Amino acid sequence: MLNLNGFPDAVYFEAEALDYPLGRELYSKYRALPWHEIESHNAIAEMQRSENREFPRLKRHLVVGVRKTHKYVQNHKVSDWLVPYTSSGCAAMCLYCYLVCNYNKCSYLRVFVNREQMMETLLRRAKASKEPQTFEIGSNSDLVLENEITGNLPWTIERFAEGGRGSITFPTKFSAVAPLLKLKHEGRTIFRMSLNPPEIIKKVELGTSPLPERIKALNEMCEAGYKVGILLAPVIMLPGWEKIYGELIEEMEAELSESVKKQAFIEIIFMTYSYVQNIINTEAFPGAVKLFDRERMTGRGRGKYCYKETLRVEGEAFLREHIKRSLGGMPVLYVV
Ligand code: SF4
Repeated sequence: MLNLNGFPDAVYFEAEALDYPLGRELYSKYRALPWHEIESHNAIAEMQRSENREFPRLKRHLVVGVRKTHKYVQNHKVSDWLVPYTSSGCAAMCLYCYLVCNYNKCSYLRVFVNREQMMETLLRRAKASKEPQTFEIGSNSDLVLENEITGNLPWTIERFAEGGRGSITFPTKFSAVAPLLKLKHEGRTIFRMSLNPPEIIKKVELGTSPLPERIKALNEMCEAGYKVGILLAPVIMLPGWEKIYGELIEEMEAELSESVKKQAFIEIIFMTYSYVQNIINTEAFPGAVKLFDRERMTGRGRGKYCYKETLRVEGEAFLREHIKRSLGGMPVLYVV
């Protein structure tokens, strides 16, 4: 169990959500909280009107709705398709979270209760494809965190194992994997753990699990027979980044199980940051570490920033060399 520090403190719900079994289950689970009816999970006036400095308070609300969009988007990384699934947004507050720049102040956790409908679509798509496909079901949220609220992951993993083809996959920054360890997953789920140095987790990935717990969870999932991967993501090049990322890779060498070292792959993603995030973070977390660095970053269109090419190339070479030295044969799938 994760310590969610009293999350949620209130629920905003679409009336239609209570027509679904999961909606009624959530209503019963959180009936002691205030429930506010809303027209649409996409436009909650109270949240949209709030000041940026209210962001941490808004993040404590849970939104319960029905997903209307079921459009799959092609992808060419670990998965073949990005799937709109049972949640969007998150209760944690990573300062770089791209959901913040996409949704501005609305990156609160939204849970969609029509999971049967989403699973039916997923199974149909999986069976209809010529070649087995991999479906990314966690690109808009953190499903391990969501699972603490809904219990959706065991339901998903076992149903896909029974009736699916190919694989499902999701990344996480949370360690609450106990409910997943005994499931019949049939090797159809690829579990990906995101790792960062402890200093970054503490100062930037606010509300997520500490590094030792993430590594333990990854070892346990591998032991339980899941296919596993590691995301070094996002790589944040604060002053002194070489030291803390070098130590992270040493920690991985010391603490990852031999099975993980044998079968895991690595994805490396350098941080991008946006103008909108910079404004919200400056007002909502005035004391927090500043991620925007004029010297080291450059514009990348539509108010986004990334590290300058020379620095990124230096970072990539550094990480590849350390991974090769400490983690031997672990393949790096891609670096972006
Ligand atoms: S855990 Fe993921 S979804 Fe949640 S705030 Fe952090 S980056 Fe965003």
